[in-house]
Amino acid sequence: MKNKFIMALALLVSGTALAENGPQFTVLVRRDGRTTKPYYTKMEMPDLESNNSFDGKYFKIVKGKGKEAVSFDEKDEKFLLKAANVYYHLNKARDYWVNKVKSEHAAALPKITIRLDIFNQFDELGHFANDNRAPQYNNALSIPSGETPAWVPAEKQDKWEKEIWFRPMKSIPAKELAPSGPNPLTTSLLAMERPLINYTANSFNQTLMEHMFYPTYAARPLHEDVLRLVGTIAMTKAIIYASRYSDPLFMDKYYYLETAMIPEIVYHEYSHLVLSDHLQMSHSTPVNEGMADYFAAIMSDKRKVYAKVKGYSNAAPKDTQNKRPYSHWDESNRAATADFTLSVLWDVREVLGEEIGDKVVYAARTFLKTETATVSDSLLRSILKACDLQCESPRKDKLKLYETFAKKGF
Ligand SMILES: [Zn+2]
Repeated sequence: MKNKFIMALALLVSGTALAENGPQFTVLVRRDGRTTKPYYTKMEMPDLESNNSFDGKYFKIVKGKGKEAVSFDEKDEKFLLKAANVYYHLNKARDYWVNKVKSEHAAALPKITIRLDIFNQFDELGHFANDNRAPQYNNALSIPSGETPAWVPAEKQDKWEKEIWFRPMKSIPAKELAPSGPNPLTTSLLAMERPLINYTANSFNQTLMEHMFYPTYAARPLHEDVLRLVGTIAMTKAIIYASRYSDPLFMDKYYYLETAMIPEIVYHEYSHLVLSDHLQMSHSTPVNEGMADYFAAIMSDKRKVYAKVKGYSNAAPKDTQNKRPYSHWDESNRAATADFTLSVLWDVREVLGEEIGDKVVYAARTFLKTETATVSDSLLRSILKACDLQCESPRKDKLKLYETFAKKGF
């Protein structure tokens, strides 16, 4: 009798403890299995330090340039959903890096400020660029820590740790995309269907693509060199193929991306912070973006990552098993948002197995630098070096890797 009472008491106590773990909020998660379909569900917010706002042990969610954490009583329901979604998935990403990968860098990261709906450009010397400098939409970025130099007036002095910024979503007519961002062509290509990107990227010079899709943007005349490079037959084929796809009825008329609502984008940005012990977050390259994509794909546990979400994203997904062979276009910083590097790294995982493959890819970063890393040279070399350290039988495994790289067209 007494034992039963103690058991009941223990249950009651543990039940209460569970409830005290944190309040629950609606977030977006993808269904299990092969589908990328999302659904909305209530999830607990872990490791909060505040009992009325998204201010936790590891992450603080703020609005724009603000300092205060987003309140649980936030009246804008969509904004509350974004805050909860980002907070939930960031803690999931941290848990993966700290407890699964055992990253010391992740464990040691100071509390990270997360900015939602921030449209300002990042300014290395001033944190936020002026409000009137071209506002940014439909993307996310991780920024390095920094501080304003001594000569900056006292009222503008600022000092910041590493942060993640999620830009507001804005529906942009596809035809206006070209001149808008730092990576005009790739960004706009993402709004189109994948086969077109693959086909065109494989076969043709980027200048030619610009001419076909954005004749006003590519103001320069088609240069002789381009014509020589491409060849007449190939060009005729391309124009026939591309004109079919550039038909306005075939393309999405608008492009939009609410980065704070896409779980894999949250994992991707957090991965940049963790990998920044070697891969500096100075700018986007095919190598540092591909590395962040790789770990985002592991966390999302899907073949296709960044898949569409009704009302929040109509961008084309990235395919971990993209079979496209290497082309010189894949080295261009403009190709940083494509999925080629991801598919190279995913092949490493397929060949070496998940456990060793993940260790090899993670260790490869120690031989890489954002400024100099190329896919065809430094990345492959780094993977082989990492295999020397991490593979069970490096000689045999490196032979397998050579074969895989050859199949990929290197
Ligand atoms: Zn990135």
